[in-house]
Amino acid sequence: EQEQSQAVENASLQDLTPVEGDIVIRTEKLNKYFGDKHVLKDINFEVKRREVVALIGPSGSGKSTLIRCLNALEKGTSGEIYIQGERLNPNLPAKQLSPMRRELGMVFQNFNLFPHMTVLQNVIEAPLLVRKLSKDQAVALGESLLAKVGLLEKRDVYPGRLSGGQKQRVAIARALAMQPRALLFDEPTSALDPELVGEVLRVMKDLAYEGSTMVVVTHEMQFARDVSDRVVFMSDGSIVEQGDPDELFRRPKEKRTQLFLERVL
Ligand code: ADP
Ligand code: MG
Repeated sequence: EQEQSQAVENASLQDLTPVEGDIVIRTEKLNKYFGDKHVLKDINFEVKRREVVALIGPSGSGKSTLIRCLNALEKGTSGEIYIQGERLNPNLPAKQLSPMRRELGMVFQNFNLFPHMTVLQNVIEAPLLVRKLSKDQAVALGESLLAKVGLLEKRDVYPGRLSGGQKQRVAIARALAMQPRALLFDEPTSALDPELVGEVLRVMKDLAYEGSTMVVVTHEMQFARDVSDRVVFMSDGSIVEQGDPDELFRRPKEKRTQLFLERVL
């Protein structure tokens, strides 16, 4: 009983106490080449605890590559990445990388749920294996997270029976189950039918208002403007401009930002 309520209490992100200047993610002059192609150019990127950062920019500007580097899914060519002040060494074997990878929960465009597992099993798989929770603790945690994303009644259903919006909400619950320091979203609504976008943005908004630390790559400019604390505009591998969402959308300083916003707004 007590264990279960503990697991439920743990169902939100770790350690939400705001600490001034507390930096969850930082890159220092991060560069990435694919062959001859220079796709990240001296990226200095920082995310503070409880901050919601919207990462916007044209297709091919390096947004996905940047967030994949943060999780060592890609290896930077030069420069440094720090997660919670600890240097990420992407050359370490997967086993040694995994504790740092766990600090960041990833949500991708295409959900990546396990098709042969029920919704609940998808959510509790990693906590059972990696966090070594008991079955009861993991189920309690999984149920509380499914309730949080509005899908408790789907706990025993297989992903194939869910809509895209429901799948993405399960993917968010699954990311949360590892109690990451921050959530990284890569175009989480881009694969969805328009009528399903809202339910996913709603869940993300709730997380933001609860004080979750989030990086969101998105084409949803209204979401970026309403929900984020800071917008970062990337183009051609560089951070061109960043700042307060209202300020950046109303009065972009750089020509490239102006041209991009004219096209998408
Ligand atoms: P965005 O997410 O902003 O659309 P990406 O980070 O996906 O941009 O891509 C940045 C650039 O890197 C693009 O030119 C893309 O074609 C290239 N790129 C991405 N992944 C690879 C890869 N695995 N191999 C070669 N080139 C890649
Ligand atoms: Mg991308």
